[in-house]
Amino acid sequence: MNNPYNNAKMQLKTVAKTLNLETHLFNQLLKPQKFHQTTLKIKLDNGKIKAFPAFRSQHNNSRGPYKGGIRYHPQVSIDEVKALSIWMSVKCATVGIPFGGAKGGIIVDPKALSQSELERLSRAYIHWLTPHLGSWIDVPAPDVNTNAQIMAWMLDEYEKTVGHQEPGVLTGKPVAIGGSLGREEATGLGGSFILTRLAKKLNLKPKTTTIAIQGFGNVGYWFAYFADKLGFKVVAASDSQGGIYVPEGLNPKLTLECKQDKGKIAGCYCVGSVCDLKKGKTITNADLLELNVDIIVPAALENVITKDNAQKIKAKAIIEMANGPVTPEADTILNQRGILSAPDVLSNAGGVTVSYFEWVQNNQGYYWEKAEVFKKLEVIIDQAFTAAWNVSLKQKVNLRTGAYLVAVDRIAAAMRLRGGNR
Ligand code: NAD
Repeated sequence: MNNPYNNAKMQLKTVAKTLNLETHLFNQLLKPQKFHQTTLKIKLDNGKIKAFPAFRSQHNNSRGPYKGGIRYHPQVSIDEVKALSIWMSVKCATVGIPFGGAKGGIIVDPKALSQSELERLSRAYIHWLTPHLGSWIDVPAPDVNTNAQIMAWMLDEYEKTVGHQEPGVLTGKPVAIGGSLGREEATGLGGSFILTRLAKKLNLKPKTTTIAIQGFGNVGYWFAYFADKLGFKVVAASDSQGGIYVPEGLNPKLTLECKQDKGKIAGCYCVGSVCDLKKGKTITNADLLELNVDIIVPAALENVITKDNAQKIKAKAIIEMANGPVTPEADTILNQRGILSAPDVLSNAGGVTVSYFEWVQNNQGYYWEKAEVFKKLEVIIDQAFTAAWNVSLKQKVNLRTGAYLVAVDRIAAAMRLRGGNR
């Protein structure tokens, strides 16, 4: 069984050695600076009380306030939340935005709750956490199964408790209450900036480059949309119930409309054309990762490329849009096989970067046009890709280790400047 916290610690260990990191700094990075946990009790619509374990891991704030999403999922665990908070510290440092890392979670199946139960749970979570939050303390955001509406309830609860307006305490808010234009598309768009740069390095021309995307939610869809706009050929996509393979290329927008209509993507292979079985077929999520395509894009869950299927991957490159989709064992196999993996901390950092823009806009009370958001995002992603790529060449390591070396070096520098015992 893959333990994400062990994986995160293993990744830190690899780079600490190359960076010759002082033992006391390395030891501090292995665990969160603060870990909060409780059991939230809320009243269900039927009058019964139900308890939900809840967590917030504040990993490191040497480079700025803690930053990271809140996940609602039955499989949330302490180790998962800790790992995700480490990855947030690394991600913010990889793209050079002035935040540390954090993550929160509640063990809950949100689909089993009504809207009003979900609202009570979200308000209870933020009420409990309020003393540890603030736009200059810890700034949460959405993650799996949390969204802009949940951020709106949370902001309202926080502001009622502290007694003043403070939109910068949470990001991923609806635009009407201080969200940033472009936040919805940001993660997929950031991934598409990585795609163009990676394709150039690998000498892949968009028109003849085929892409398979696992997961067609916010991240997977917008990645597909921008990749298609750039002229790449998106030939496969999936959701939790399976996927489709359309060798001549699918239309992301029509596929999304079909998925929304049918409730699943399987069967959506003939949208926009005459339904011809030769044109496409339904495939499983396992098949999708092993397709004979140029690039695969895991955009759903962690640990989907493991030692069990890494040998079967046929793609030349992977763009990790989900968090932690490749296990360390799989990473070693992919390296040996010469398959390039653009790591999550770089590929999906568009989301947190536009969250940073949202926080900046909230703090200054002055809001930008969407085009400005997109332009500023490309500058940041480009600089981060170039830095990680150059370090990976210089140190003769893969792109993941390159990004980690850049990031941990930046975090360690901030820790040293602050005295080394934060
Ligand atoms: P989402 O809930 O909008 O979409 C998730 C998609 O994955 C859905 O299409 C769902 O059907 C699919 N899925 C679920 N289980 C699956 C399975 N077993 N096999 C295949 N597909 C499955 O979530 P999202 O916001 O798109 O996030 C996707 C991933 O990207 C997560 O790992 C998340 O942590 C990461 N991420 C998201 C953002 C963001 O801004 N939303 C930013 C950084 C990282």
